[in-house]
Amino acid sequence: MERNKLIYTVGDKCENPNCNHTYSLDVHHIIPRSKGIKAGGTNKLKNLIVLCPTCHRAAERGAYSPSRLRVWISRKRRFRHPNTIRNWKW
Ligand SMILES: [Zn+2]
Repeated sequence: MERNKLIYTVGDKCENPNCNHTYSLDVHHIIPRSKGIKAGGTNKLKNLIVLCPTCHRAAERGAYSPSRLRVWISRKRRFRHPNTIRNWKW
């Protein structure tokens, strides 16, 4: 449910600015949860990015650095309403 809320909030499209696909969207952890909370592997919004399957696979392969992914999310979400998803749980 919260996953779908995030996808809605970012505009129902892949957050890669060069992509913008709208199908089969998934939420990717910029810092993997397996790295642990201290390393930043959290479910907080700043660690989550909506990606299509192609970009998700590329991100899993390490094609995009965490700092690059963070630029993508800040640029897209600036125009939306983060307060609507402030209190969600994962
Ligand atoms: Zn994409």
